[in-house]
Amino acid sequence: MTNGLEDFSYEEVSTENSTHSEQAKKVLGHFIQGRIVSKTARKQPVYNPATGEISKEVEIADPQTVNEAVQVAEQAFPAWRDTPVIKRARVMFKFKQLLEQNAEKICALIGQEHGKISHDAQGELQRGIENVEYACGAPELLKGEYSKNVGPDIDSWSEFQPLGVVAGITPFNFPAMVALWMFPMALVCGNCFILKPSEKAPSVVLYLAELLKQAGLPDGVFNVVNGDKEAVDALLHHPRIQAVSFVGSTPIAEYIYRTATSTGKRCQALGGAKNHAIIMPDADIDNVVTSLLGAAFGSSGERCMALSVAVAIGDEVADVVIDKLTQEMKKLKFGNYADASNDFGPLITQAHKDKVQAYIQSAEQQGAKIVVDGRDAKPTGYEKGFFVGPTLIDQVTPNMTSYQQEIFGPVLQVMRVNTMQEAMQLINDHEYGNGTCIYTRDGEAARYFSSHIQVGMVGINVPLPVPVAYHSFGGWKRSLFGDLHAYGPDGVRFYTRRKTITQRWPSAQVREAKQFSMPTLN
Ligand code: NAD
Repeated sequence: MTNGLEDFSYEEVSTENSTHSEQAKKVLGHFIQGRIVSKTARKQPVYNPATGEISKEVEIADPQTVNEAVQVAEQAFPAWRDTPVIKRARVMFKFKQLLEQNAEKICALIGQEHGKISHDAQGELQRGIENVEYACGAPELLKGEYSKNVGPDIDSWSEFQPLGVVAGITPFNFPAMVALWMFPMALVCGNCFILKPSEKAPSVVLYLAELLKQAGLPDGVFNVVNGDKEAVDALLHHPRIQAVSFVGSTPIAEYIYRTATSTGKRCQALGGAKNHAIIMPDADIDNVVTSLLGAAFGSSGERCMALSVAVAIGDEVADVVIDKLTQEMKKLKFGNYADASNDFGPLITQAHKDKVQAYIQSAEQQGAKIVVDGRDAKPTGYEKGFFVGPTLIDQVTPNMTSYQQEIFGPVLQVMRVNTMQEAMQLINDHEYGNGTCIYTRDGEAARYFSSHIQVGMVGINVPLPVPVAYHSFGGWKRSLFGDLHAYGPDGVRFYTRRKTITQRWPSAQVREAKQFSMPTLN
């Protein structure tokens, strides 16, 4: 058995406790001070979710390992902070090229551990690369603000300085993209970074670390610590970590935000979602059905922007949509990541598969109608994989567990209401407020919807309104804890702090009088 990372150059230079035996090769370590290190006794299996088999193991960091990574980053910080911004940006330019040159390998690593089909992994990577491209504009983004003559011979300017050592904690479902939301911007702003990826899909960021090194990033500026809650807690309580960016489920996001801010850190913690699509009677129903298929079942529904609830205005709309969806869902293909003819892959773990099946069962028990049931679907040759087939549930009501909570699986629920106002009330009452979409041909209705809906990211005939890299990403309500959204302009603000300098060079001829009142320009 191989670990999928055979041709990483750093496997050859792997030191510390690692050996060249077959067994040692299957264990993923940490990336500290520019090389892979093996540190801890505690390990966790990493699965290939399509086959259900353990493909590798990953080391789980203890607080000493986290502390070592932070110390290394802190030592690297002064020189990196003082590196001219154009040189920091040049590392990102090179990194972007390397990401593109090695896209196939990156997508394979995503597929092996997450199960995402190759075309979907390419989309994930491309979205990540766009964040690198935005970060390449750092010299422009960090120019600051300047005002001449704010008083007699007085000039004032604001500059945006790095914070120091910052940390990112990422989820399993976008192993490359969400990490790329964070560290490229943090690094070009002059910070050093510790990344704690999901222990369920850890290989990709170890490979990204290697590419950053190849791009010319000095050792110690970017470090990866693999682990679980123990490593996360060590980061949250570490006195030298200045800021924490988190993406994951809402209960953990809330915990991260509370803990990080209570220890004086800046924090943005993005959580879970329940994304509704309103289908108006005037919508182009064939287009709606096509776009709902991808938005609900793409990536097996394991996207925080997945459309998981279709709210039909009127029974007539609901019946037509369900009928057409049922026909189209029969054609969907799911299976292993390497077969690009598949539409989507498996769920991440057996435990998650059990949870998704339990949500479907609970909907049935609470009175919903299972129109298409994917609970027992098994692609041929992958019977032990963590698959759930596309599932369609009708007659869903707000009191149902499957509606109140995030399922994070290939399950589309249909709700029936009579008016757009009723549909908007449903969305506004939900505890999550990540994404939403309205399908309509009515500009006035769409404009009203986008102005009044209590959700952070809104689509008008766009099912997955994930903002591009030069805007910022974030939900409302319990989908985001913190003040700033992720990446884009908010990312620049999150990874820097403003310093405002007011300057006067007094003339030898003009001496100032004593002044005890607040200085003004009256
Ligand atoms: P998760 O919350 O289980 O894990 C996220 C990270 O937190 C991982 O690195 C994990 O190791 C760590 N973690 C897990 N339990 C922890 C604990 N008790 N204490 C400290 N750290 C802990 O999330 P996941 O299952 O990896 O990802 C799926 C979730 O992420 C979904 O809820 C999805 O909606 C959400 N998500 C949100 C966004 C967004 O932008 N809002 C994007 C992607 C995913």
